[in-house]
Amino acid sequence: MTHADTPASASRPYPYEAPVSEALFERASVVTPGGVNSPVRAFRAVGGTPRFMVSGRGPYLTDADGREYVDLVCSWGPMLLGHAHPAVIDAVQRAVANGTSFGTPGQGEVELAEEIVARVAPVEQVRLVSSGTEATMSAIRLARGFTGRSKVVKFAGCYHGHVDALLAAAGSGVATFALPDTPGVTGAQAGDTIVLPYNDLDAVRAAFAAHPGEIACVITEASPGNMGVVPPLPGFNGGLAQLCRENGALFISDEVMTGFRVSSSGWYGLEAAREGWAPDLLTFGKVMGGGFPAAAFGGRADVMAHLAPAGPVYQAGTLSGNPIATAAGLAQLRNATDEVYATVDRVAAEISGLVSEALTKEGVAHSLQTAGNMFSVFFTDRQVTNYQEAREQEAFRFTAFFHALLAEGVYLPPSAFESWFVSSAHDERAIQRIADALPKAAQAAAAAQA
Ligand SMILES: *Cc1c(COP(=O)(O)O)cnc(C)c1O
Repeated sequence: MTHADTPASASRPYPYEAPVSEALFERASVVTPGGVNSPVRAFRAVGGTPRFMVSGRGPYLTDADGREYVDLVCSWGPMLLGHAHPAVIDAVQRAVANGTSFGTPGQGEVELAEEIVARVAPVEQVRLVSSGTEATMSAIRLARGFTGRSKVVKFAGCYHGHVDALLAAAGSGVATFALPDTPGVTGAQAGDTIVLPYNDLDAVRAAFAAHPGEIACVITEASPGNMGVVPPLPGFNGGLAQLCRENGALFISDEVMTGFRVSSSGWYGLEAAREGWAPDLLTFGKVMGGGFPAAAFGGRADVMAHLAPAGPVYQAGTLSGNPIATAAGLAQLRNATDEVYATVDRVAAEISGLVSEALTKEGVAHSLQTAGNMFSVFFTDRQVTNYQEAREQEAFRFTAFFHALLAEGVYLPPSAFESWFVSSAHDERAIQRIADALPKAAQAAAAAQA
């Protein structure tokens, strides 16, 4: 998911085998580019064969070879309640028995929209879509349509899905125009994107000064998790909102990852709500779909009124508000109680504490970074505040650490540039398995060679 992944230097022997996954990966590689349907699943950053999972239950995943793992990926965030939560499974089964798609409005869409509006105060209206990518793409189109301006400011290291205009992450100089960092995105598509260093308000100020009346919106991850966890410095997000307001641009807070995960009202509830300001638009995905393709964007009613059919900015989707996806999302959100968030917070603190303790014991320089209940480890001796610093870590230590944990049945994101995710189903047994695996993993990280 991140662009920070670097290929592992060479394939290397690991003291564990996965013959069924290996056979599946070989078949997959014949019929699918790289053998996967989303790049970071391929283990390219860490080497080895990706595990093909066949089932999930609570905090555990089981692979095609019958090996069980404590899951610290949680489907990259969505599984807040753990895998196969009974209430979610039940809601899905009941919904699917009534048919799978109608291409008409349905009650579930209304209820999911009401649930989102009730939880996140600045969201007065919301439009349901099927992926986070669609949510950010549509939010940017709406911002451009609303303001009549072209340019978009984003930050290096922030991922907003594979939207053409947002796949420009290179060029962190102040107000440099972005070069697309993937072939297939034209200079024209990326030419209106301005990529700035994260946590640098002066760079944003300079961009507004250099392009008066041209910037439609600033989009940022509410708290970045796609370069590893790099929280906003105090005042950064609030400063962005203020600069946008002063310059007639919209502030888009991308909460696809943080939304309904770090609190019942996402990062908004942890920061903006307390500081007394609000983004103009927010985007959601991951947790709100309960493991199904459901995402959303929403915000100020006067802005959302520009969206078709109420207004002129076109946006549509055959499967938008799909009844199964909305049923799963509603069940997950309704079961995501204060108690659930307290549990997830406690579990995250416990596991991140164990990780830091194990690495410290082996003398491994690291920065354990947290944003609510999201966390990740950078193998560096200083706090990471932007993408440039994230890339300066000793990622080769992560590779050793990752494989040592995998061998002991602990499944981390297969990249040093991703957030780790836990669920309310991570119980003492799951945490104990992690604790048991950590000493060896920390030793492997300490012994790793670049
Ligand atoms: C995952 C993610 C997206 C993209 O969502 P998809 O459903 O994968 O398209 C967008 N923004 C952020 C912050 C994300 O973490």
